[in-house]
Amino acid sequence: MKFKEFNFANELLDGLDAMRFEKATPVQEKTIPVIKEGSDLIACAQTGTGKTAAYLLPVLDKLIRNGHKDINALILVPTRELAIQIDQQMEGFGYFLDVSSTAIYGGNDKEEWNRQKNALTTGADIVIATPGRLIQHLSMGYVNMSTLQHLILDEADRMLDMGFFEDIMQVVTHLPKERQTLMFSATMPPKIRELAKNILHDPEEVNI
Ligand code: AMP
Repeated sequence: MKFKEFNFANELLDGLDAMRFEKATPVQEKTIPVIKEGSDLIACAQTGTGKTAAYLLPVLDKLIRNGHKDINALILVPTRELAIQIDQQMEGFGYFLDVSSTAIYGGNDKEEWNRQKNALTTGADIVIATPGRLIQHLSMGYVNMSTLQHLILDEADRMLDMGFFEDIMQVVTHLPKERQTLMFSATMPPKIRELAKNILHDPEEVNI
């Protein structure tokens, strides 16, 4: 299936052309329509299947169509490396769009902390964060999450393996209850089901 068939905004299709994305992968074909329609989603998908674009594209499309102000989407990830990788993919898709994103992760660099604080205060449209570091910023009181519409958990099973269950639950207390929540995980152990029960509302399920 070609990306044109999803009726994405033209500026987004231009970004896809520039990145030489032409045909959707199976996970994209199954999840993009569900996300566009507005349902919550739990998707079982491995790394390398195109799961990042599966959620970034419909979220960006909504942002373009509905307008945006302050933080619109939060993507929680297990590691700094994944946060940076997603941010880079986001920059590729967003090349022709007026959309900003920022990666938030741990470390002791003061300059890096200030860059993150600045991005969160001015309200990047899309925030990609590791849970622990995000909580540090949230507890300082300068992050406004009231405009958030999408929460995405990427590599949710890895986040739980790394002990982030409580941190994720704490982040969620700062978010509006009315939101679309999407969870991507390579495996579906009972702990993932428990997390899903806590933060997803009547989700569609996609398995690849
Ligand atoms: P991911 O599973 O999201 O880590 O994606 C794996 C790689 O596939 C990344 O380098 C993406 O840029 C690339 N990719 C994802 N979807 C497509 C697509 N539809 N066409 C071509 N490349 C893609």
